[in-house]
Amino acid sequence: MAEREHTRVAVIGSGFGGLGAGVRLRREGVTDFVILERADAVGGTWRDNDYPGCACDVPSHLYSFSFAPNAAWPRTFSGQPHIRDYLERVTDTFGLRPHLRFNSEVLRARWNREAAHWELLTASGERTADVLISATGPLSDPKVPDIPGLRDFPGRVFHSARWDHGFELDGKRVAVVGTGASAIQIVPSIQPWVRRLTVVQRTPPWVLPRMDRGINAVEKWLHHTVPATHRARRGLLWLIREFQVGAFAKRPQLMKATEQLARAHMRRAIRDPLLRSKLTPDYTIGCKRILLSNDYYPALARPNTEVVASALTEVRGSTVVTADGTEREVDAIVFGTGFHVTDMPIADRVIGAEGRTLAEHWKDGMAALRGSTVDGFPNLLMIIGPNTGLGNSSMILMIESTLNYVADYLRVLDRTGAAALDARPRAVRSWNEALQRRMGRTVWNSGGCVSWYLDSAGRNTTVWPGTTAEFRRATRQVRLAEYELLRVPTATKGAGV
Ligand SMILES: Cc1cc2nc3c(=O)[nH]c(=O)nc-3n(C[C@H](O)[C@H](O)[C@H](O)COP(=O)(O)OP(=O)(O)OC[C@H]3O[C@@H](n4cnc5c(N)ncnc54)[C@H](O)[C@@H]3O)c2cc1C
Repeated sequence: MAEREHTRVAVIGSGFGGLGAGVRLRREGVTDFVILERADAVGGTWRDNDYPGCACDVPSHLYSFSFAPNAAWPRTFSGQPHIRDYLERVTDTFGLRPHLRFNSEVLRARWNREAAHWELLTASGERTADVLISATGPLSDPKVPDIPGLRDFPGRVFHSARWDHGFELDGKRVAVVGTGASAIQIVPSIQPWVRRLTVVQRTPPWVLPRMDRGINAVEKWLHHTVPATHRARRGLLWLIREFQVGAFAKRPQLMKATEQLARAHMRRAIRDPLLRSKLTPDYTIGCKRILLSNDYYPALARPNTEVVASALTEVRGSTVVTADGTEREVDAIVFGTGFHVTDMPIADRVIGAEGRTLAEHWKDGMAALRGSTVDGFPNLLMIIGPNTGLGNSSMILMIESTLNYVADYLRVLDRTGAAALDARPRAVRSWNEALQRRMGRTVWNSGGCVSWYLDSAGRNTTVWPGTTAEFRRATRQVRLAEYELLRVPTATKGAGV
């Protein structure tokens, strides 16, 4: 049998998380690593989501790596092609190409106790690694509801994250199912082209104005020639969002003023009181992700658009049927129905020291220590693990904090000579009990909505209930007391390959 390649570190995924890990590893002097990617290009979210209108909803100067400032962002909220280009440039600038292994989906990762390493089965072969960094993304695997009759629908069906560019929208009758962050970018982008647009809305979102504009040449020049101005801009964007956290996490009643702003935003675009009542949420703003758009409401008010305020329950031939009995014949169904978030697919593929998968270990809900490590899964680190999501700021801040933790983790392994660290169950438990105690007061748990932040048991296992500065402090270094140090006899190391 061919010998399996061994590296010190294997990273799964090449989105912001995986690429960020690659840069950080190199900066720490670790060059013995691979980045395993199931697709044939880097970019993650920004490779897969190329639907019409796709853009970030956190300003670009904050939604980018601190170590790779980009003075050339074209807009305050840049579009998918520019973010994808940025990630390609990061890949080249920081010398990540030699580490990338495309078409290498990780099908199984099993911890080998004796050898103290991970055995990986990938689409491009088997390999081993001392440390496994999972950066498979929280919004990476599209979720399409199991709707009776969908399979027999004669038209086109696709998810927003797998846009069918071969489908001509012009003059077609299209149903967009869902009204989340992707759907509200798609609706205004396709409304002018389609004959009839049916927006199937189970729950309306709160929508605020989007302060989007082109970044002018003077700003770009200034940020390029005086980097301090760029840092100041980023710092201000960050600070504003840090101040908002109190309202989300502690005093949802402070969201009232924001709610008034959202109501006024809707009133300005929607004259029809019936449509307005369909579009007015009955939960506290912030409970579900607040969406930003200037053209969503105007698109809904156009004569060729209809909002069906009811859940999709059935597809009968080419007709979509909703719970309130509405039937509409369509040529295509676009699902903007989100992703497998609280049931992340990689959890079914990772097998820990006890021979159980991470999904089995998490049967009562996802839980990790400082969002990163799980007891019984030695040397497994997660980027954007449980309770590290944000409702209002840039995920890149959370990714970079976790990378500080990863870097310190590797230093601890070097310093102590341990083969692996295994989180102590007590440490994982107390970290998560403290998190869940804080959750009760947050708008995500108490705002009166059901959202993808909550798992099937209603537990919030996705959002970080504090500031990004607090998370940065919590992940600055590994606390040895929270881990058991595992050692293997030198003779065994490297065997079993
Ligand atoms: C449309 C959209 C807009 C968004 N806008 C924002 C925003 O404005 N601000 C913000 O903070 N966040 C935003 N997000 C969240 C976004 O997901 C994160 O900001 C960030 O991009 C996540 O990076 P990641 O590397 O963790 O995951 P991803 O970008 O999802 O990358 C994961 C990678 O892992 C690969 N992968 C998965 N499983 C395997 C496997 N088994 N084997 C090998 N490879 C695998 C995938 O192919 C993918 O390339 C948005 C998300 C979406 C979908």
